Amino acid sequence: MKQIMLHACCAVCAGYPLELLKEKGYEPVVYFFNPNIHPEEEYTRRLNELIRHCEKYGYKLIIGENSTDEWFEYVKGLENEPERGERCKKCFEYRLNKTAEKAKELDIDTFTTTLFISPHKVRKDILEKGIQAAEKYALIFDDTDFRKQNGFLKTMEIAKAENFYRQKYCGCIYAQKMP
Ligand code: SF4
Repeated sequence: MKQIMLHACCAVCAGYPLELLKEKGYEPVVYFFNPNIHPEEEYTRRLNELIRHCEKYGYKLIIGENSTDEWFEYVKGLENEPERGERCKKCFEYRLNKTAEKAKELDIDTFTTTLFISPHKVRKDILEKGIQAAEKYALIFDDTDFRKQNGFLKTMEIAKAENFYRQKYCGCIYAQKMP
């Protein structure tokens, strides 16, 4: 089976993409790299749900560094941007570059992200940053649209069945503060 690195932001968003990638013949290697999730309690909560899911279904999970300071530095000056704006593009860039770097290190030539399943995110921005990261590391960015065929609904059904914790905001303190 061909491995694919799946950057996963949380268990809720990972549920359906994992099933779909398996159906497509891939062996997903899950990569949790999300220093954009604050506060730390929330980060740990989301991570623990993903650990539980990966252990239950036997997915390999790699936990990246929680480089919060570096993330804040990366999005500096964009604190007041609305969600779906410039800060989010930088946030995607940061996480997808690190995912590509990890995939390269592990000799996995293809990667993708669960970010594609969220209806709250701009697909073309994720695509652009994923393609750039793939070019930088000479990898393939799999652009499967996880939202197709009711993907979001399916992932929410899995979340319900697995009794996942479901967060109410994207991740960063800036999004958390916004109404
Ligand atoms: S709102 Fe979400 S995607 Fe945008 S910067 Fe914050 S954590 Fe990243």
